[in-house]
Amino acid sequence: MADYDFNAPRLFVDAPLHEGARIALDRGQANYLLNVLRLKTGEGVLVFNGQDGEWRADIAVEGRKAADLVCAHRTRGQTARPSLIYAFAPLKHARLDYMVQKAVEMGAGTLQPVITRRTQSTRVNLERMRSNAVEAAEQCGILTLPEVREEESLELFLKTLDKDRVLVFCDEDAPVSNPVQALAKLGNNPAGVAVIVGPEGGFTDQERALVAAHESCVRVSLGPRILRADTAAVAALAIVQSVLGDWS
Ligand code: SAH
Repeated sequence: MADYDFNAPRLFVDAPLHEGARIALDRGQANYLLNVLRLKTGEGVLVFNGQDGEWRADIAVEGRKAADLVCAHRTRGQTARPSLIYAFAPLKHARLDYMVQKAVEMGAGTLQPVITRRTQSTRVNLERMRSNAVEAAEQCGILTLPEVREEESLELFLKTLDKDRVLVFCDEDAPVSNPVQALAKLGNNPAGVAVIVGPEGGFTDQERALVAAHESCVRVSLGPRILRADTAAVAALAIVQSVLGDWS
C-alpha cells in the first residue's frame, strides 16, 4: 500500500469508469469538492464504483454548485469483494453507524443484520447502513462496497449459512481462552468465514445452543470483560483478519 495516495479525496460514483468518462456529480458531491475541499478545475480526486477499479478523475467546474469529473487514468485495478460475512444484532443509531463503518474498514464483504430475542432495534434502515458503508469505503481506500443484506432471524441466518463456512461465534458466556489459538487451529478455509456478534443484551441460552449447533461453529471468548457490541465487533474482526483473513 506504500504507493497508495492516501491524501487524495476519494468518491464512490455510481457510473461506469473508463478513460475520458465524464461523471456528473450530484449536488452533495459537487458541494463537497467545490465548497468544502475548494478544489479547482484541473485538480483531481480518486473515484471508484465497485466494478472498474479506481481512477484519477479531474474536476471540470460547471459553476458554483455544479461540476463534472473526467476520468484521466486508472490508479488501481478492481479487486473482488471480500468473502468475510459480518453478522450482527442491529444496535441503535449512532452505535450501528459506528459498527457498520468499522466492519467495512476491517474488511467485511457482507453485512448481515440478524434479529435475536434481545435485539434492540428490529427495523434496520438499510439505506443508512449503505451510506455508512460508502463513507467507510471512501475513507479507507476500499474498492468494493459490501453487500448490505435485509435483516433476518437468527434461525434463518443459520439455516442458509454455508455449512462449510467457519462461523466465529463471539459468545460472552464462553470460558476465557485464547481466541487466536482457537482460530489458528482452523488453518485456511476456502469456504470462508462469518463472524457473529450479539445484541447489547447478549444471546439467550437457546440461541447459544442454536449457533453452537452450526457444523463449523467456533465459539470464541473476547476476554474476561464484557465488551459493548460495537467494541466486540472491532475486537473480533481484528482477531479473525489477523489469523484467518487478509491481515496475514
Ligand atoms: N449480556 C451482556 C453481553 C452483551 S455484549 C450485556 O448485557 O452486556 C454484546 C455482544 O458482544 C455479545 O453477545 C457477544 O457477541 C459480544 N461480546 C461481548 N463481550 C464478549 C466477550 N468477553 N467474549 C465474547 N463475546 C463478547
